[in-house]
Amino acid sequence: MRSADPAGSASSALKPVEAHLADILATVRPLAPIELDLEQSLGATLAEEVSAPVPLPPFDNSAMDGYAVRAADIAEVPVTLPVVDDVAAGSDELRAVGPGHAVRIMTGAPLPAGADTVVPVEWTDGGTVSVRIGRSAGPGNAIRRAGEDVQSGDVVLKPGTLIGAAQLGIIAGVGRRRVLARPRPRVVVIATGAELVEPGGQLGPGQIWDSNSYTLTAAVREAGGEGFRAGAVGDDPAVLLDRLDTDLVRADAIITSGGVSMGAYEPVKEALSPLGTVRFEKVAMQPGMPQGFGVLGDDQVPLFALPGNPVSSFVSFVLFVRPALAKMRGLPTGMPESVTACVTGSLRSPEGRRSYLRGVLAADGTVSPVRGQGSHQLAALASANALIVVPEDVTEVPAGAEVEVIRL
Ligand code: AMP
Ligand code: MG
Repeated sequence: MRSADPAGSASSALKPVEAHLADILATVRPLAPIELDLEQSLGATLAEEVSAPVPLPPFDNSAMDGYAVRAADIAEVPVTLPVVDDVAAGSDELRAVGPGHAVRIMTGAPLPAGADTVVPVEWTDGGTVSVRIGRSAGPGNAIRRAGEDVQSGDVVLKPGTLIGAAQLGIIAGVGRRRVLARPRPRVVVIATGAELVEPGGQLGPGQIWDSNSYTLTAAVREAGGEGFRAGAVGDDPAVLLDRLDTDLVRADAIITSGGVSMGAYEPVKEALSPLGTVRFEKVAMQPGMPQGFGVLGDDQVPLFALPGNPVSSFVSFVLFVRPALAKMRGLPTGMPESVTACVTGSLRSPEGRRSYLRGVLAADGTVSPVRGQGSHQLAALASANALIVVPEDVTEVPAGAEVEVIRL
């Protein structure tokens, strides 16, 4: 059901989700490229062209364990040839294969001069003094030629490439020890709240275990950042400012949770509002309406002040922090991608706010809302694999309707 007054009084003061993301993306910058050791480069974004200094493979070599021979000598089979040498991978002293001779050869070993084909061991009796070959092979069999993968000077990776396992492999494969790349952003996560207790500790009256700092640090890592969990700081703005002072030197971005709503004891708002570089706004979304964003310190380190309710902070991360991290990494960014699905139950959403309801997206293209749509219902979030998006001007969605869904 569409409401008659999408820009009604309840929503007039709210900032659209897209506008908030646009402000964030206009502020954050790709991190400067640095020289990274191979071991540190997983998840970094390449900032140079990587090319091969030599051909790969560097020399003709055997693709199989077998026998290097002259194809002409095995035209008629079966045939028995004397085995005159053994070459393993890494061998450097090679005897040439003369007419009527065979050399036992292992996978990756250089092809001896004179040989023009390799007979797999499976086609032979496996002999070490002489070998009986039961099947013939034409020239070039089971030989990997020099330069077959990459020619000398070929570009193997372009700037902007995300370094995953295979990319890291080819960087190593062309002999590089270091590469110029944008590193994974270092993100410090600070939870506020006098009620928070470390998981593993005993709960006193009125206390809950801190989950947000764990969720958000993990979310940073899943998003390709280096997450540092600074833990909880209570509700004293002075303690928070102290903590920020310490953490700013090691952070490319900071995430806080809690302390940004309308109540008393909102330490993030109280500590950062006076600085004038962090804005606290109401975004037209549910969950996650109160949002703070800005920069801190001489280095203008971006700070995301996310709301404290566990589902709110997580949804805020998906919508605002993840795209910002992508930009910092030099990767394409924007609103999270969505797919269309058929919703199995009816949905409700407040007028003037875009809802991100938790659901389970199935392989058959249906999405089922989970039980427990409150912004504190973390167990329900943990059982979901998708966010169902209900637009600002829609207040009711009937079962069977098409909806947009963001995969988690
Ligand atoms: P706040 O935004 O600080 O007013 O917190 C809103 C709600 O989220 C309150 O019920 C808090 O107890 C809860 N909350 C805040 N921080 C955390 C956290 N780190 N882990 C779990 N729940 C939290
Ligand atoms: Mg709080």
